[in-house]
Order: sequence, then structure tokens, then C-alpha cells
Amino acid sequence: MQDSLFSSEHQQDNNLKGNQTNPFIIQVAVPKPLRQIFDYIVPAPINNSTIQMGMRVLVPFGRQQLIGVVLSTHQETNFALHKLKNIVEVIDHTPCIPDDIIELLTWMSRYYQHPIGEVYSHALPALLRQGKPTELVVENAWQLTVQGLRVETESLGRAVKQRLILDYLKSAMAQRIPHTPSQLNQALDNWRDSMKRLEEKGLVEQVQPSSIFTSAPAIAEPLHPLNSEQQHAADTIRASLGKHQTFVLEGITGSGKTEVYMQVILEVIQRGQQVLVLVPEIGLTPQLVERFKRHLNATIAVLHSSMNDTERLNNWLAIKSADASVLIGTRSAIFTPFKNLGLVLIDEEHDLSLKQQDGLRYSARDVAIMRARNAEIPIILGSATPSLETLYNVEQNRFTKLELNKRAGDAILPDIHLLDVRSQKLENGLSAQLTQRIREHLERGNQVLLFLNRRGFAPVLMCYECGWLSHCSRCDAFFTLHQKAQRLRCHHCGNEQPIPTQCPDCKTNGLHNELSPVGMGTERVEESLAELFPDKTILRIDRDSTRKKGELESKLEQAKDAKTDILLGTQMLAKGHHFPRVTLVGILSADQGLYSADFRASERMGQLILQVAGRAGREKQRGEVIIQTCHPEDPLLEDLQHHSYPDFCKDLFTEREQAALPPFSYHVLIRAEAIDEMAPMELLQAARQTTNNIEASIVEAVEIYGPFPAPMTRRAGRYRYQMLCQSTNRNSLQKLLHYWLPLIESLPNRKKVKWSVDVDPQEMY
Ligand code: ADP
Ligand code: ZN
Ligand code: ZN
Repeated sequence: MQDSLFSSEHQQDNNLKGNQTNPFIIQVAVPKPLRQIFDYIVPAPINNSTIQMGMRVLVPFGRQQLIGVVLSTHQETNFALHKLKNIVEVIDHTPCIPDDIIELLTWMSRYYQHPIGEVYSHALPALLRQGKPTELVVENAWQLTVQGLRVETESLGRAVKQRLILDYLKSAMAQRIPHTPSQLNQALDNWRDSMKRLEEKGLVEQVQPSSIFTSAPAIAEPLHPLNSEQQHAADTIRASLGKHQTFVLEGITGSGKTEVYMQVILEVIQRGQQVLVLVPEIGLTPQLVERFKRHLNATIAVLHSSMNDTERLNNWLAIKSADASVLIGTRSAIFTPFKNLGLVLIDEEHDLSLKQQDGLRYSARDVAIMRARNAEIPIILGSATPSLETLYNVEQNRFTKLELNKRAGDAILPDIHLLDVRSQKLENGLSAQLTQRIREHLERGNQVLLFLNRRGFAPVLMCYECGWLSHCSRCDAFFTLHQKAQRLRCHHCGNEQPIPTQCPDCKTNGLHNELSPVGMGTERVEESLAELFPDKTILRIDRDSTRKKGELESKLEQAKDAKTDILLGTQMLAKGHHFPRVTLVGILSADQGLYSADFRASERMGQLILQVAGRAGREKQRGEVIIQTCHPEDPLLEDLQHHSYPDFCKDLFTEREQAALPPFSYHVLIRAEAIDEMAPMELLQAARQTTNNIEASIVEAVEIYGPFPAPMTRRAGRYRYQMLCQSTNRNSLQKLLHYWLPLIESLPNRKKVKWSVDVDPQEMY
């Protein structure tokens, strides 16, 4: 392999090479989907004594030049020296990736069976991947002056743009926080000229970029005195600082987990150490960051997917240099180098968004545990509804569970009612009883939250003359009807088209409701709520209503507004947000999760229901939750009704154990897809054949199922098949993959098919 890659142009000037008898050789990971690392020579003009592991180097590769990472120096090589190439230059003065991250990435590459160079490039911020220096990128930021904070927007008269900017900077979350141009671009159009005017008036000022990270208040607001459960949890974790232990902080929503986190973080900061806080994509709201900033007298860096490359690099560097002591970020923040990491914390550890579902498929939670173990520091996995995997580890005494069973402050848990809707006529998804309860809560001046995990108007459009259904032409799925946008959209591939005016099959004209929506989406429920409660304000929050940058944040703010009466949304509403005025939560259907092809669906449904239920009665008013279902006798729902997540999990454990499913076994899923219908199946069959060339004892330690079609066999025009490997022993799986994957990689047909390996898959499609 190495020979063929390099033979094309190795006619180098040999004089440029180092000492020919004893050249300085380094091993480099290059960003290519290849499982090996490559030997290079450091030529004489480069001072090789400065080269260290973790530095970036520019290297020739085939006809390209690539940015690779040095993985070892002073190597012996197994290749003939004249076949090795010289590196072009060393990019860094100090290692860009420190040893502990190298250790972590090496483990990941092995455990997740992913090409080493790709793992490295995944772990670097984009600008560093492109070879930019590891220096803060200077971007001037703007903030309100003290005068700007005090001045009334009205005093700006008819300068509409200036008023808009001032209002934006004054909005609750933005006060006196420097805003970079890229952040302003997301929120405002053409703001620069007006900003200049405001600066001339002394209402805003430009600040040094470094102050972006030093926005901690001079005096932090004190935390609540902890209740006894919280105190016990915080004390136990504090006592373990400086050694490795995995804690599971299981606390119902509103039990004050975040307060416990902050108490422990304070202690770590006081010891001069740093903290990594991982949160699910959707949980990383400005409110959370604000809350941390308010209470911790510390510089906080943030990393998430909607930041631009410059912001990401600056925050990454602030942590690497220890200019910031806390990093709050979504899953890829796990790769950030820390100068002195003392604690890792994962909020909502059960959340699916902590798992990367393409490319380098990793679980940020599991990688974080490995990182904490290597660093000999504690890690906290927090959740109201921990995953079964995590609870299993508690049972096996690998993790230590700490419980918060009471709601903090005065709030009490809401009552949960199961509402049997089997023989009822549902008015656009709402039963008569639920409608009545909504009315009562609204009359008392409270807020109502309704949850339906399906966006759009209706999940399918049907012709009542011939039975035609709106199938997506590229997927085994239906087009969702989006009434407002007047489009049919596929939620699986993005395919869309206008709503037909006549049936594509029988040509019946659709003018008189011959073409009608079937089923319920949030848009449709919103419409009927508007009819039922014409004088109430309804706020819908789902992916469609929050597409623009900043729209989710502003809607979440609006949700807390006294003017908003009914909140309606998908799981976006379920997680982490605090709506103090909600007293009734209605779950329009609980049944999707009960009977699904994916064995994890019921676990997810339960977690979601308890999360949504946790939105009710977070403050002094008692809350109530109504779940509409056609299966009120289902034991899982009954467990949830009693807020008994432990009983719910016990029932699930029994099911899983009987079927030998995770966490009682481990899975690896090999997926294949192609436009050609036969190709993926053929490739997987051939792949399965190659196991004949592996020692029988290694193959027999693993059950291999399939190949079989994926639950949604056709998606975005591609046919998808998979093969499931299962074993009660992780090492057996690893060992098999170690021998097997190179054999699959050398199959003649593999190039026609996109295939991948998912270790510990979370979804079966
Ligand atoms: P969780 O993270 O478990 O959902 P939070 O930490 O957000 O819970 O706490 C829920 C609410 O209770 C917050 O408004 C918080 O300020 C308040 N709270 C938490 N702990 C206490 C306490 N010990 N005393 C009074 N109020 C508290
Ligand atoms: Zn028809
Ligand atoms: Zn589609």
C-alpha cells in the first residue's frame, strides 16, 4: 500500500534529505480514510530536535500536500529509505494536540474501528485542520456602555436600525456581553453603519477580543444553600476529586442537579483546575450558559455547532491555555485539550445527541468516561432518566449512583393521568377531556404545554377516491404535509414538492377535500387550538418554526412571557427548559414508542414522557400531566404514571435480558448502502463470506445476523442493508473486527457501496 502511494513521485533531490545513513524519521497521521500511519523523513534544514508528538506537519501525499499530526519521533522504519518522502514543514512550535488527547484518539481509533488520520482531523477545530496558527483570531467585539445600558430606546427617535441594535444588545441575555461581528450577523442585518452611529453617541463600545472570555462578573451570585440530598451528592463528589470515579447523579427534573454541578465546579476552580461540561445539542441554551456565568466567578468558554470557525478556535484556545476554566459544549467538545482538567460532567447523559451518527461514530459519554479514567479525575453523569446502559453499570458496581428524589425549593411533582382515548372522537388530536382541562388551566391564568413529537400539518396526504398516499419518491416513507408552506416534504431526505391539486393516480380533482391529510402534526394542532381558544396566544416550537439562527432562543424567551398561554411543540420543548408558569402538560400521544421496530424506542418514550412531565409545576403551583393513549393498561405506561423510572427500567431490563439485548450484550452494526438495489446486499454477503478466512474461535465468539434490509430500506434514493454482530464480550467483538475489516476493505466490489461500522449503535437504521 505504502509503496504504491509513494512510487509515483519519489524522485526527490536526495541532497535535501537528512543524514542518509541515519535520517530522522517521524510517523504521521494523515487525514485520509486509511488505517495506517506513515513514515516521513525530516530533512536536514529543519531542526528536528524541536519536533514533538502532537505537532502539525505539512507532508506530501500522493500528488497532494496534507496537514498531518506527528505521532512519534525517532522512528526506525521498515521501508527502504529512498521510498520515504521528506516533510515540507513543521507548522507548530508547540504540540497542538497534547499527549492525553493523543492517547484518547488512539483508543478511539481502535475502539470505534475508525481510520486514525480521520480521527485526528475530527478532533481539531476547522481552522487548525486548515493549517492556521494556534493563535486567537482577533475579531473586534461590541458591547453596551454603561450609558447605553441606561438610555431608553425611545430617545433614539426615528433611527430604526439603531433602536433595533440597542434593543438587541439590551435584551435580557445580552446585557454588557461583547458581541462579535459574526454573532451580530446572525441576529441583525447590515448593522455596521448604525453601530458606528451608536458608538459616536457613546452608547456602545468596541472591546478587546480577550474579554470575550473574561465576562465573569466581579461578584458571583451566591448559590442556593443545598438541601440534604444535594449536600450529600456534592460532598461525595467533592471527596473524590483527584481520583477517578464515575458518578451517576439521578435526579428528577427540577431536583436541583444543576445547583449540585455548580457547587462542585466551584470547588474544582478553587483548586486551580478546569471543568468540562458536555450537554446535548438542544440543552445548550444561552440561559444555561448565563446561569453558569452568573454563579461561577470564572471565565467560561463555549463550543457548539452553530458557532463559526473563528469562535470555535478562540474558545478551544482559551481552554488549552487555561485562560478559561470552564468549557460548556456539545459532544465534540470532548476533544478539547485542557491544561489542567479536574472534572468532567455530562448533563442529560441519556440523550441521543451525545452519539455521533455518521463518520466517526462515537459516544461522547463513553469517550468522556475513558478520558476521565485516563486523567484520574471524577466524572458525573447527570440525568432525570439515565440510560439503561448507565444503570446497568451502577448495578455492576462500576458507577456510583447519587439520587435526588425531591424537587428543590417548594415545587412538588405533578400528577400524571393516563387518558384512554380508544373510543373517542379526537378533534384534531385533542380529546374532549383534555380540551376541557386546557380551558380550566388557562382560565386560572396558567400556562399549558402540549407535546406532539411530529412536526408539519399531517404525516401523510391521502386520496379518498382511490387510496393514493403521498409517498416520497426517494424513500420508503411518506411525504409530510406542510400546509402553511403549501409543500409536501420528506423528513428523511429533504425531498419536497408542491401539494398536488389533483390525485396523481386517479386524477380526481382535490378541490373538495378528496385529497385530505391523515394524522396529526404540530401545525395542525396549532390550527385547531387557534379555533378552540381564539383569544389565547399560542406559541409553536419545532424544527420548522425555529429554522433561522437565534429563532429558537427568542421563542424560548417568548415562551416565558406572561402573554403566551399555550406552548405547543416537539421534543425541542421537552428538554431542560424552565417554564415557571406551566401547570398542565398534555402529551397528545404516547403510543409511537410502545410498538416500534427499534428495541430502544420504549426506553426513549419513557425518558421523553418524564422529561416533558418535568415541565409541569416547576415552581409553587402544583402541576398535572395528561397522557392520551390507546394502551392505558400497558405496564410501562403505568410505571411512568407513578413517576417510577426505576420500575419502568426494571421492566425494560427484564425484556432486554430475556432477549439478550444491550446492556446484556454489545452490538456492532455494519451498514451498507448504494443506489444500485443489489449492491449493498451483495457486498455484505461477500463480507460475511470472508469470515471463513478468520480463525474459527474468533468468529464463533460473536453472533452475526444478516445481512438484512434496514427498517427503512430505501432512503434518499439509496438501498440500505445491514449486518448485526452481537456478543456478551466487547473484546470478542473488537478482535473479530480487527481481523475482519481489512478483509472487507479489500473486497473487489466495496467501492460501489458506501459502508460503515457502528460500534455500540444507538439506532438500528
Ligand atoms: P435540575 O437541574 O435538576 O433540573 P435545577 O438545578 O435547575 O434542577 O433546579 C430547579 C430549580 O430549583 C431552579 O430554579 C433552582 O434555582 C432551584 N433550586 C435548586 N436547588 C435549590 C435549593 N437548594 N434551594 C432552593 N432552590 C433551589
Ligand atoms: Zn386518487
Ligand atoms: Zn424522502
